[in-house]
Order: sequence, then structure tokens, then C-alpha cells
Amino acid sequence: MKQPNIVFIMSDDHAYQAMSCYGHGLNETPHIDRIAKEGIRFDRCYCTNSICTPSRATILTGQYNHTNGVRTLHDSLDNTRQTFPKLLQKAGYQTAIVGKWHLGHGEKHDPTGFDYWNVLPGQGLYHNPVFYEMGKEVQYKGYATDLITEKSIEWMEQRDKEKPFLLMCHHKAPHRPWEPADKYKNLYDDIEFPYPDTFDDDYSTRGRAAHKAKMRIEDLKEKDVKAKTPAGLTLAEEKRWKYQRYIKDYLRCIASVDDSVGEILGYLEKEGIIDNTLIIYTSDQGFYLGEHGWFDKRFMYEESFRMPFIVRYPKEISAGSISTDFVMNVDFAPTFLEYAGISIPEDMQGESIRPLLQGELPTDWRKTIYYRYWECDTPEQPSEHNVFPHYGVRTDRYKLIYYYTHGLDLSVNQEDGPIAPEWEFYDLEKDPAELNNVYGNPGYSQEIQSLKEELERIRQEIGDHE
Ligand code: CA
Repeated sequence: MKQPNIVFIMSDDHAYQAMSCYGHGLNETPHIDRIAKEGIRFDRCYCTNSICTPSRATILTGQYNHTNGVRTLHDSLDNTRQTFPKLLQKAGYQTAIVGKWHLGHGEKHDPTGFDYWNVLPGQGLYHNPVFYEMGKEVQYKGYATDLITEKSIEWMEQRDKEKPFLLMCHHKAPHRPWEPADKYKNLYDDIEFPYPDTFDDDYSTRGRAAHKAKMRIEDLKEKDVKAKTPAGLTLAEEKRWKYQRYIKDYLRCIASVDDSVGEILGYLEKEGIIDNTLIIYTSDQGFYLGEHGWFDKRFMYEESFRMPFIVRYPKEISAGSISTDFVMNVDFAPTFLEYAGISIPEDMQGESIRPLLQGELPTDWRKTIYYRYWECDTPEQPSEHNVFPHYGVRTDRYKLIYYYTHGLDLSVNQEDGPIAPEWEFYDLEKDPAELNNVYGNPGYSQEIQSLKEELERIRQEIGDHE
């Protein structure tokens, strides 16, 4: 059988709540939805670490962050490491990455394993961005999302049509500072978006981490909402005003991403290769759209932990499928290798999801997801959002989170006392919004003990001993 092409489209910080195929009713994303409608939607895809750089490293290496060495935003990927694009390239695939890289630059960190790479430096800019095209600095006129689309299609256009290809099209949008294209700057002007049910969460049952995180809608700065707060608003009114400014720009950025997906699908269709191409749309993690009163990501609570993940490949996927099985970003690399007919290296830690795409669940499929967020606010590496480091496990029904302190320099948090380790436990069946931490509830002591054992088991299994 001919190896399929792989078109991997990933946006940055695109919450599943802002894709209409996930049914939240916030906005319309018809082109993205087409992938789900003609393919499969995963409702339980999770990242190993809800932040840009580590998630990208996991996707490329098929490894957890303690293994691939990219734990925080301050780490870069050692580009001599094994990645799935390198293995595809060796097996005869043509390979390219266009857009956001965010895994470091220079001889040791520039993209490797790609015949063509044209990436933004760091976060890059929305308007008239500079790119590093094969290491050479080039400035383009235009809007980042449109340029990434254009360069992606240009590369596909010049490919050798006799050989399969991998395209990683990585949008910068809708990452902060949420600058929309001019054509969408007035979209939603006359709408007031509804407020999520947990918008006014007071974190009353949560540990210190939720209270101390600096990612509340109130924390949005003037440069984020691109206007001065009108005079005379109460605090509650100001929070709502900021939310409207924030959510509108965020969704306007997504309108351009959806256009981009339409153009890429259109190109594949025109070339007659759409059905022999594994098409993926995802984001590097989830994002808060006002849930728990937050923007940003990082926490192991569902909105940031869960990734949108949809796949179209009609040869194997029944149109309109929905999966609630546990999938992770660590699975992407092994999956692509399997489709390319390459054996999956022992040191990749994920599993190919090909059986799930075909509608079959292996009997030994994982029943637990392990998560670890490493970033810590220290004098050397200040972390703007002050989310405490934590790890934990999620099962079908429960979630156990441990805010750890071992091995950390917590001096920056000394102003109101050092961080103490804390546990949280949620019954997701009774409390899907994660508003009631029941760690102290004796009724759950058996379940808590059992999840603690599962946490230790999985840490042993994947070798996270730190
Ligand atoms: Ca991100």
C-alpha cells in the first residue's frame, strides 16, 4: 500500500471550546469542522505538559519531558535527538515545517529532519513577521497565519509528486497577544459573548496554587486588551469588559486559522491527494476562555490539559467518529511512524493510535493519563503566571494532583510563606467542572489511596524519578 502523506496542522493555544465541532457554540470553524465531520474527533486527548515548548518536544520525540529534556519554556530541544520527522525523512518522505517552532535556535536547536524549514523566531510576530528560512532571516509583508499557509502550499506545490510527504504547518495564532488580521478586526463587534459557568470561581476548595496563579481575566494588561479600561467601572464590570476584549480578539485570530485550514484542504483536494493524506488538526495544549476566571494554560484542570485533536483519513476512519479513549500527544510520533511503515523505536514512550482510528480499542489500552508541569517561578527564571509545579494522574472518573516542592528553589514565593506540598482530588463524574477538591473527604480515602499507587506505578513505568 502506498504510504500516506501526513499534513499536521497545529495552532498555538487553540482551545477545543473554540472549535464548533466540539459543540460549545462559541464560534464557527467550518473548515476545521470538516476534518472532524469526515473523520474522527477525540474528546480525551491530553498533553503531557500544558505549555508550548514542552508539548512541541513531546510531539516530535514521542517522549515525556523528563526523557526528552524539554521541561519548561526555558529549555530548548537538542536537535541531535531522534524525532519522527527524521525517521520519515530517512524512509524517503519529503519533510517540511512552516511556522512556529519555539524549540530554540542556532546550530544546536534549529529544526533538523526537515528538507525545508521556514520558522518564526521564538514566538514571532503577527504582522510583517521575520522568519528564519533554512537559517536565513527573511522579513515578509502580511499576516502570520496567511503567510504560514502560503509558504506551506508553496512547498507542497514544488514537491516530488512520486514520493510521500510530511508537512507540519504550525500556526502562531491564536497565541497571546491575540492580534487579528485586518479583515477580521471588527468581527463580533456587535456581540456580547456569554460568560462560562465557572467565570466567577473563587477557588474556595482549592489549594494555594489556584489562588496564587496570575492568569485571571483581571490580570490581562492594557497591551493584551489593546485599550484603556473605561473609567467608572466596578471591578466586576471591568472583569467582564476585559473578557469581551480578550475573547473577541482570540476568536478573530481563529477565524484566520480556519481560513487557512480551508485553503490547505482545498489544495489537497485540487491535487487529488486529499484521501491519501492523513490530515490532523490540533493545538499544542488547551486554553482557558474565562473558565475558572482565567486565561492561559499550565494547570492539570481539564480546559488546559485537554487538546483538541481531529483526524481525517477516509481509508481507515469512519466519517463522524467520536472517541472518548485516552490519547496523548506522546502518541503522535509513533502513530505517524506506523502509517509510514517504519518500526517504532523502543525509546518512544507513546503508542500508535492507529487501531483507535480504525475504530478498535486494544484490550490493554491505557486507563490513566500522567501529567507533569515543571515550570517554577524562581529569581533566575521568573514565570509570569506563577502556576505552581505539579504532577498527577487522571482516570476515567478521578483526578489526583500533587503540587510538589522537592527539588525546587522557592525563594521567590517566600513573601507569604514557602509553598507547602498540597494534594487535590476530584470526582469528575460528580464534579466535571472541578470546583470541589475532595482530598480531605474520608469517603474517598480508598480511591485516593488507589490513585496514589497508580501515580507511583506510572512514574516508575515512564522513568520520572525526579
Ligand atoms: Ca501553546
